[in-house]
Amino acid sequence: MINNDVINEIRNKSDIVSIISNYVPLTKRGKNYFGVCPFHDDHSPSMSVSPEKQIYTCFSCGATGNVFTFVSEYEHISFIEAVKLLGNKLGYNLTTHEKVDTKSGDYKIYEIASKFYQNNLNSSLGKKAIEYLENRGLNRETIKKFGIGLSLNKSSLTELLINKGIKLDKLIELGLSNTMSNDLFLNRIMFPLYDLNGNVVAFSGRIYNMKDNSKYINTKETSIFKKGNLLYNYHNAREHLKKNDYVIIMEGFMDVIRASTVGINNCVATMGTAFTKEQANIIRKMTDNVILCFDGDKAGEEATISAIKVLEDIEINPKIIRLEDDLDPDEYIIKNGKEAFLNKIDTSINVIDYKLSLLKKNKNFHNLEDISEYIDNSIKELVKVNDDILVELTLKKFEAEYKIDYEILKKKYETYNNKKDIKEVKVVKNNKKVITIYEKAERSLIYYMLKSVDVLTLVEHNISYFPSMEIRYLSNEIIDFYHKYGKIDVADFISFISSKEELLKVLYEILNMDMKDEYTNLEIEDYISVIKKYFKKSKISKLEKSLKEETDPLKQAKILSEIMAVKGVK
Ligand SMILES: [Zn+2]
Repeated sequence: MINNDVINEIRNKSDIVSIISNYVPLTKRGKNYFGVCPFHDDHSPSMSVSPEKQIYTCFSCGATGNVFTFVSEYEHISFIEAVKLLGNKLGYNLTTHEKVDTKSGDYKIYEIASKFYQNNLNSSLGKKAIEYLENRGLNRETIKKFGIGLSLNKSSLTELLINKGIKLDKLIELGLSNTMSNDLFLNRIMFPLYDLNGNVVAFSGRIYNMKDNSKYINTKETSIFKKGNLLYNYHNAREHLKKNDYVIIMEGFMDVIRASTVGINNCVATMGTAFTKEQANIIRKMTDNVILCFDGDKAGEEATISAIKVLEDIEINPKIIRLEDDLDPDEYIIKNGKEAFLNKIDTSINVIDYKLSLLKKNKNFHNLEDISEYIDNSIKELVKVNDDILVELTLKKFEAEYKIDYEILKKKYETYNNKKDIKEVKVVKNNKKVITIYEKAERSLIYYMLKSVDVLTLVEHNISYFPSMEIRYLSNEIIDFYHKYGKIDVADFISFISSKEELLKVLYEILNMDMKDEYTNLEIEDYISVIKKYFKKSKISKLEKSLKEETDPLKQAKILSEIMAVKGVK
């Protein structure tokens, strides 16, 4: 365990705006910063970050917290691991968690497996496979660079690892063996898949000398292999960015390997999944200059469109390469060579030109209806562009090309643009929960207790008990925190209750309430009296219930006078 004072000290030194900026681009508006929320499918900046309070809140999905909860949620690590991560960056020497050690054991197993496969390929058993690879234009240097290996026709990997003292259960869990103690990969050329740090975490095995229904088989997802969180060749491509400050995203690892054979090394691959938000954020850490080069077929076109959306959400405007004849980059480079592919890179187009080219497909530009539909759809696309100059230029281009008055085009653009704003506001409103007057009062009191010691003291002396259990606990924790540290600080308070998930949930709801920053004493007194009334009412209804059940007239009279007494207290 790490001491609370150390946690607060690290938090104090880790400015939330600069830490979150490493993950999500933030723009300053007023006194807060805004960015696209990484915790829900966000299309406009819904997350605000307060440099003053050192917390973030998403007004759409409700994600809230301090710098540690952000890193913990984003990196999928525990709160304490996030503290350690940020602390160690600042030069604290906080020992790493046990969980990381088990992971490093898993990496070790994959490293042994990868070496084993590579040795097989280099042995006499690998002759045919080497021939096959060389025929496909992958020479020894490429084979070595990408760690390509070979699995054999018996369960020799499982044997080797069990002899090294690794349990079969572990090998099954890691997707290397089955319950019969057999290797999962047999007779295949093995392509290791790497995580962002260059650890081997999975394999893709390709057939080469036999017929099989599945050309490739891949390791299942495991604790160290989550497809959507990885980009093939990231660890190598990152090194090449210093020379060429752009990255090319492809679909398959063979595309990336092929590009490297003609000296293009700044490529990564999504490995057959749709391009994810996690992958987009990884890219953003590398560079803002992105080229999408997916397969030339229809599926590749759809993948391109959805990747554009994911990238635009984090304010990256990619360039696009489309390949003819349904070719993938691997096939294209084999067929047309290096120069042709370099030319493709040089002539990659921007997103709006790409989208307009798609809209032009199957349209007859001698037909007025088709023209009108094309312009209408194009303007709808333009609304999504965050670049005023590009919008202006495109509208001018339409004016010249189709002889339509500029003002008409502009007006249409503005109509769609206004509709977009209205839609965004609606989403936010629908997310607000309906709460009772008592809940409103108790939640408002908690909100202002976290802002002001005066309110905290008033609540401490006037309310012994909140109606809702979680608010009662939360209020006790706030009062405890204050007595321990002599001050109130929301960001540190979040750390203080970080192990109490239920309380955090309520706290986040409260921090997300639409409250004014200022309050008057009258408002606070009102809230307190609403809470007091609640108890009075519930006390009376309890007494009235027992009055009904009571048959003894003497006792009845006693209850009655109690009721009068409670009612009489103003
Ligand atoms: Zn959100």
